Amino acid sequence: MGIEFLYPEFEVIRNQDRCIKCRVCERQCANEVHSYSAERGLMMSDETKCVNCQRCVSLCPTRALKIVKSDCTLRENANWQNDTIREIYKQAGSGGVLLSSMGNPKPLPVYWDKILINASQVTNPSIDPLREPMETRVFLGSKPDRVARDENGKLKYDLPPQVELSMPVMFSAMSYGSISYNAHASLARAATELGILYNTGEGGLHEDFYCYGKNTIVQVASGRFGVHEDYLNAGAAIEIKMGQGAKPGIGGHLPGTKIVGDVSRTRMIPEGSDAISPAPHHDIYSIEDLRQLVFSLKEATQYKKPIIVKVAAVHNIAAIASGIARSGADIIAIDGFRGGTGAAPTRIRDNVGIPIELALAAVDKRLRDEGIRNHVSLVVGGSIRSASDVIKAVALGADACYIATAALLALGCHLCRTCQSGKCNWGIATQQPELVKRLNPDIGSERLINLMTAWQHEIKELMGGMGINSIEALRGNRLMLRGVNLTEKELEILGIAHAGE
Ligand code: SF4
Ligand code: SF4
Repeated sequence: MGIEFLYPEFEVIRNQDRCIKCRVCERQCANEVHSYSAERGLMMSDETKCVNCQRCVSLCPTRALKIVKSDCTLRENANWQNDTIREIYKQAGSGGVLLSSMGNPKPLPVYWDKILINASQVTNPSIDPLREPMETRVFLGSKPDRVARDENGKLKYDLPPQVELSMPVMFSAMSYGSISYNAHASLARAATELGILYNTGEGGLHEDFYCYGKNTIVQVASGRFGVHEDYLNAGAAIEIKMGQGAKPGIGGHLPGTKIVGDVSRTRMIPEGSDAISPAPHHDIYSIEDLRQLVFSLKEATQYKKPIIVKVAAVHNIAAIASGIARSGADIIAIDGFRGGTGAAPTRIRDNVGIPIELALAAVDKRLRDEGIRNHVSLVVGGSIRSASDVIKAVALGADACYIATAALLALGCHLCRTCQSGKCNWGIATQQPELVKRLNPDIGSERLINLMTAWQHEIKELMGGMGINSIEALRGNRLMLRGVNLTEKELEILGIAHAGE
């Protein structure tokens, strides 16, 4: 039995009374779902091709369209569910590894939703962020063990290199190639305007974006695509990518269909060739090897840039982070198992890695216990969805958060989860020129600025409610958090008390 025998996952419902046959839906759908039948004088739908990206629904001038999940199900049970059966049919037809994109959709616990934030009442009064100054700035980089003064009693400021953020949020790594030129332009412009950083991912830095260098993290991944001296010196910080939350333990894969024109030039690989970055860095098999790469990058940039080491949240993450902190890295970025991606094997995405909340709490505690917490800043990502997730992450010990899926949503992504096809109808995860131009970088950057501005207001309100006027004072302050519906073990790892205690 082949996939062609499966009933389509979505149904396109067209209200024929409202449809004016303008054919906008036909022109807008890169998946070729809609077509006009001159013979019948009607718009037709091929639902087998629909990915429910909602582009046609959003642009239909008469609201004639609706896309719904089909209620035609296989005879599932608690063990053999609809999706599981469909996947078996797909693999029986293709013989291939299942590919997906975006984050883990499984109903595993979202600990952010089981953690509640404190507020001041009566004593320790709250602070009104509209009337009082609130500090959301953070500085990422290694901090000295103690405050030092010179012979005149003046503070010594010769710190290791730091980056300043206006708020504890950055745009996480998304490579040029996995996302479009216009998506990158939107992120770069918004980061610059906001005083935060965006991240090149492993795709190199397009020459047009060197002007945003002060707000750019340049990444060095195992494939070393697009890495050269000017690239390293262009950014505000350099990130060594050892792993990513959506696919821990494996490398990256960008299909050759996306390696076209500028993408191939920026990556320094031939057009049409698959960009496959190996699972490990072939020169790193120990913390000592990692240390060599950290210091090679510091040498190449005259010790002026903080070095970030990014890892996926996995079982022994606390010990791994302890090693990284001793490798000379200035910042550790940890990516949880719900992190998004442009393409990942479905089995890896859905089954490998651990939640970022537990990883963060374990790492922060371990580094504190070892007396080296100040040697590194901690950045966490992997489905940070709101200002309250940011506040909870900071209270669990993070210096800042990475966001990517939330940023793409701001750009118009409708989470259809088919980025790997290269046919993103919203102009984000595509290199097809006619699709790329659908995302206007002026509008994209404005929407990102709006989102971050809104989060900054909310962060200030949440901080004010706790009677805290500086985000630095919240970092690692787990007394501000309480758990609900959590086991003793989960509370112990998170280092928080249960609500009511
Ligand atoms: S966009 Fe709407 S009105 Fe136009 S043809 Fe499609 S369904 Fe009909
Ligand atoms: S970026 Fe585009 S293809 Fe990917 S999930 Fe969002 S809308 Fe779909």
